Amino acid sequence: MRENNMIIEFDSRSENEGFARVAVAAFVTPLNPTLEEIEDVKTAVSEAVTNSVIHGYGERVEKIILKASIKENTVSIEITDFGCGIENIEKAMEPMYTTRPDLERSGMGFAFMEAFMDEIHIESEVNKGTTIYMNKKIMG
Ligand code: ATP
Ligand code: MG
Repeated sequence: MRENNMIIEFDSRSENEGFARVAVAAFVTPLNPTLEEIEDVKTAVSEAVTNSVIHGYGERVEKIILKASIKENTVSIEITDFGCGIENIEKAMEPMYTTRPDLERSGMGFAFMEAFMDEIHIESEVNKGTTIYMNKKIMG
């Protein structure tokens, strides 16, 4: 397929998690993904967006930027917030590590992103924000 790119900016409201996952699902449709591949991408996007809403911004409503691009049959996704940032990325990525057990978070978000996507990379700076980069080759 030809290269294709998109950017969406939306408010960090929990209802936009559903919007973001459906937008990415629609964007990858031309690659003829299997249902399982679509579910994998949607889950990874949900987890990243939920993290920006809950952890990045907490009670505040600010902007989240979602970028996606397709090159050949690989989809690359970037999710950025300008929230509190992550102090220790390595620790944050450990399965079952959460800073919000009070909210009944289970600390599995990054583990799911890693499991469902081919590659994931996190860049984050305390008090500046966080970007999650992920990509997945769609076999169809
Ligand atoms: P779950 O995803 O299972 O509900 P969780 O969100 O705590 O729980 P992860 O998604 O794996 O688990 O994230 C681990 C930790 O990384 C979070 O508890 C939080 O401290 C930190 N974190 C993740 N994303 C962000 C973000 N965008 N901004 C700031 N901190 C983040
Ligand atoms: Mg999470």
